[in-house]
Amino acid sequence: MTTSLDLTTATFDPRDEHEWQQFRALAHRMVDDTLSHIAGLRSQPTWRPTPPAVRAALDEPVPYDGVGAEEAYRQFVEHVRPYPNGNIHPRFWGWVMGAGTPLAMMSEMLAAAVNPNMAGLDQAPALVEKRVVAWLAEVLGFPSTASGILSSGGTMANLIGVTVARHAKALEAGVDVNEHGVQAVGRRMVIYGSTQTHNWIRRAAEILGLGSNSIHSIPVDDEYRVDVDALRAAIRDDRAAGHLPFCVVGTAGTVNTGATDDLQSLLAICREEKLWFHVDGAFGALARLSPALASCVQGMEEADSLAVDLHKWGSLPFECACALVRDDALHRDTFAVDRTKANYLAGASRGLMAAGLHFSERGIELTRGFKALKVWMSIKAFGVDAIARSVEQSVAQSRHLRRLVENDGELELMAPAPLNIVCFRWAPSDVPAASLDAINEEIVLRLQESGVAVPSSTRLRGHYAIRVANVNHRTRLEDVELLVEEVKRLGREITRS
Ligand SMILES: *Cc1c(COP(=O)(O)O)cnc(C)c1O
Repeated sequence: MTTSLDLTTATFDPRDEHEWQQFRALAHRMVDDTLSHIAGLRSQPTWRPTPPAVRAALDEPVPYDGVGAEEAYRQFVEHVRPYPNGNIHPRFWGWVMGAGTPLAMMSEMLAAAVNPNMAGLDQAPALVEKRVVAWLAEVLGFPSTASGILSSGGTMANLIGVTVARHAKALEAGVDVNEHGVQAVGRRMVIYGSTQTHNWIRRAAEILGLGSNSIHSIPVDDEYRVDVDALRAAIRDDRAAGHLPFCVVGTAGTVNTGATDDLQSLLAICREEKLWFHVDGAFGALARLSPALASCVQGMEEADSLAVDLHKWGSLPFECACALVRDDALHRDTFAVDRTKANYLAGASRGLMAAGLHFSERGIELTRGFKALKVWMSIKAFGVDAIARSVEQSVAQSRHLRRLVENDGELELMAPAPLNIVCFRWAPSDVPAASLDAINEEIVLRLQESGVAVPSSTRLRGHYAIRVANVNHRTRLEDVELLVEEVKRLGREITRS
């Protein structure tokens, strides 16, 4: 600490009119540069590796003396902005990552300026989050009495849904797990998903104290949908073994191939067996916004809980997802704060605490950011129908890619592509089958390293597949066509060498 510190001016705000003017000029420049950068993305490589010199520059000691905002910004422009994952680029289709939008970027700035704590004090920002949750519930087919909360991502939204499931079904078995823990149930609580269920289920089972052995993973059919008969048999066997089946997870849009489980059959099984029905709709749930695609995810609207990401197909910047829970009383009961113990959170009949802390009692976090604003501004500005059009556009582009693959003798479709994920490989008949995995892996690496496009990969029935997951509102049909040409060119180039 410096001895000359003037305690009356130890603020991070500009200190006088002149400093405000300087900062205002810098802030305007940041906005202008950033918008130019986004507008010019198409002429940039999709991805470029972070060079050693930049890595070295970022490997800095703690700066006890600041360099000032201008210089910090300059270093960001030089060392950080050019070397990201690439998911904001029109030809990025790796894993499942959304591109974000300029409007949502500005909304994030506005949200940070208001900087409310979204534990849920009943002020305008919380009303905004309650409203966007209600809008999402309505457009995804949930009743107006449903409850919900925005979360960082799909992993967290799924965890919230399954936490409510665990609480509700343990209560039915006579145990309050919040008080006594899962061990008090005395039996293994079993959760069901398919072999295609995303890895979040493992995280959730571990964190909730169920253990990953409590996941009963059910095989899938040729379309990568859960085998419903095998699920019935598994539930029966687990009951016979003395376990407590409690939850079935259906997926609307699996991460590998975009398959959707037969949600109506899963729903029927859950109602018969008195199990909680949770749907992971991380990206697929948004198919419901399109009248042409809604039937793909039929049954989702009857789930007890649903997780949907908004930072994938919803095109919002990271992070943003939503957990919906059909029964608000169960949702709140799962996360309720015991105010007799947490005195510092005590309620009041008037003032800021008059309505309690709505969101801290529907999720895991206490202090939360105002991510609701970017949802609210985007939905208001564009309308839900524009999100539906964007979803439809990705599906149309994916179907175009699928047709190009199916009609090309050098290419092979590796799995049905019902939605926005296409898995394929370069496989001309004169290339030995044993070398296809290695060649296709090399194709993907060269695509990424050249900056032309970023698909990712997966393994399907033992074979390496190029995986193109399109949740990118910036993609055009010509980008997909360029991908196909490049895959074929690289395949030939690799086999010649
Ligand atoms: C992405 C994804 C998740 C995980 O969501 P995050 O937002 O990455 O935490 C879960 N399920 C599916 C089907 C996904 O695609």
